Order: sequence, then C-alpha cells, then structure tokens
Amino acid sequence: MEIFRGCTRGCRFCQAGMITRPVRERSITTIGDMVDNGVRKTGFEEVGLLSLSSADHTEIGDVAKGLADRYDGSNVSLSLPSTRVDAFNITLANEFSRNGRRSGLTFAPEGGSERMRKVINKMVTEEDLIRTVATAYSHGWRQVKLYFMCGLPTETDDDVLQIAELAKKVIAKGREVSGRNDIRCTVSIGGFVPKPHTPFQWAAQLDVETTDERLRKLRETVRADKRYGRAIGFRYHDGQPGIVEGLLSRGDRRVGRIIEEVWRDGGRFDGWSEHFSYDRWVAASGRALAGTGVDLDWYTTRERDYDEVLPWDHLDSGLDKDWLWADWEDALAVADGSADVEVEDCRWTPCYDCGVCPEMGTEIQVGPTGKKLLPLSVV
Ligand code: SF4
Repeated sequence: MEIFRGCTRGCRFCQAGMITRPVRERSITTIGDMVDNGVRKTGFEEVGLLSLSSADHTEIGDVAKGLADRYDGSNVSLSLPSTRVDAFNITLANEFSRNGRRSGLTFAPEGGSERMRKVINKMVTEEDLIRTVATAYSHGWRQVKLYFMCGLPTETDDDVLQIAELAKKVIAKGREVSGRNDIRCTVSIGGFVPKPHTPFQWAAQLDVETTDERLRKLRETVRADKRYGRAIGFRYHDGQPGIVEGLLSRGDRRVGRIIEEVWRDGGRFDGWSEHFSYDRWVAASGRALAGTGVDLDWYTTRERDYDEVLPWDHLDSGLDKDWLWADWEDALAVADGSADVEVEDCRWTPCYDCGVCPEMGTEIQVGPTGKKLLPLSVV
C-alpha cells in the first residue's frame, strides 16, 4: 500500500526523492479503504505501508494504530519499511508487532560520521541514533540493522571507520538498557552510485580498489574489537558490481554497445553474484568503446563540470539544473567546512524553488485530516 508519493527531505544521493517531488499523501481513510479492499480481494495477509519515508506521513500514528486495531487477533500482519532514525518510530513498531514477533528494526543513517551525514543532507545526529536504539532495545528488540553507504563524495577512510564506532556505541547502549548480552547490531553497507537528476550527478564514483580497501579496514576494525566485535554483523558488497551499476546509471547511448558486447560474450543474469563477471564488463567496455576517446573510468570515477551536457539533460523531471548544481556546491562547501547549510523540508518550510511544482503543475498535498479509522465490522 503506497501511503504517499514523493519525499522532500532532500538527501542528495536519492534519485527517487528528487524525481518524485513534491509530497502527496493519501488520506488516512483512503488508506484504510484500500487496505481493507486489498486484504478481502487478494487473500494476502501481509500489509506493508510503503513510500519513500513512511514514518513521515502526517497521520502515520493514527494509521498504524487504526490498522493494528482493525486487524487485531487476525492473521493480517502490518509492516513498515526501514524508517528514519527517530524514536517515534519505535511507537509505530510497537503497534505493528502487536500480534507477531519482534524481528529486526532497520534504520538508515547512511553516513558513518556526522560530517558525512551533513554532506548528504541526512540530518541524523549520533544522539538521535543512540536514543532510538536505546528505546528499541529496552522495548524488547534484540536486533537492530543499520544501513550505510561507502564511497560518498569527499568521504575518507576515517568517515567509514566511524561506522564501527557507531556500531560499538549502539551495542554498548543496548547492553546497558536491556541488561542482556545477546543483543546484536548488523551493519549493512552499500556502495554509493551517483544517480542522474540528483545533486550528486556530477560526482566522481569511488574506484574499486579504494572501496575494497576501505571496507577491508572497516571489517578489521570491527573484528578486532574484543568487547563488541562479536555482537556486530557486517554485510557488504565489494566494489566491482558498483562500477558496472555506475556505468549503467550515468551512461550515454554508447553504453548500449557495451551491454550488447557483454551479452554476445555470454553475460546473463548479471544481477546474481554467481553469474556476475567484472572482467567481462571491463573487456566488453574496452572493445565497445575503442576509438571513442572515452573509457569505463570516464563514465564512472570522473567528476563532471557545470558545462558538461549530461546524457539525461533532455529528460525533464521538473528539477531546475541550476538548483541541483547549487545544492552540489553546498554539499562541497559543507564537506570542507566553509559553510554550514542544511536544506530543510519544503513540507514545513517555505518553498526554495527546486523547480518541480511550477514545471509539473503539482503542489504539496499533506494532512492531517483529523479523521480516525473506525472498526471494520461488528463481530
Ligand atoms: S517547487 Fe518548492 S514546494 Fe515544490 S517540491 Fe520544489 S521546493 Fe518543494
């Protein structure tokens, strides 16, 4: 059930957030009707409340409580995808796990260091995170999953090593508040791939060697820790698939030839790691791009300039390119400490002219409606 579309939190890496602006919510009553209809007519028993940041729905508390009440005692289970790091979400998670097990809670701070989180405009402080996990562990959760990215613009080894520090603090806090030793924290790390139509569309992607080296250092730091290392799970992908993703993400029409070359060479189901061959992609790029003056690095690990005509410039997502560029420059200024700017959410602050609403003829549509979900029928 998609409970709203769009997200204007302004995370600079997020293509979905950038190209689906502004926020348009479904009302609590529409959500209730659609869930009811779906459950009755499909026979499915799992309801996920989806959107780019579901806990941001203006009436999510009432939606959660209303649905949990409606389906109390039935086999219908409710879930929320990973949420922002915010203590309020524990209340929601409590509603959602009323009937069932408390499996894992997932949060996405994305950046290991405070500096990194400012660069990507994901304003989550360490305090927020620790407070939230403390609530989770003290409410019976034993497992918290944290999602991060490696290779963000201006990132250094130290920014990534901060992930280990954060995870240790999470475990320490968890043990303190729960009084137990069997709690866990799983750190999951994805490689950052710059995406079109975002402020990071001009950024250089981190090369394979540096990505792998950085992740190796992080893994060793976590494992070497005698007190907390065993309580921290570590999941990541090496840098190679990320570079192919980066090629496909920001490629132009010449990349079509590479894909064909890979296919002719036997490439199938490359999204499955057991079928993925980085060497095949490198060799195919070499053949397909011979004589063009560009290569794999040109598409991936190269930073772009303001003047460059980008292969997707003719696709209009409504975003003003100059606004995106200014936001990219802000990110760089935040990174080197020459400025301290935060892009706020236009749901609650004045419009800052990203261009979408006038260009697309849309407007922000949010509650609250003040309505509540009533019980479905008298039993
Ligand atoms: S045009 Fe203004 S109100 Fe609309 S999404 Fe952009 S910043 Fe928000």
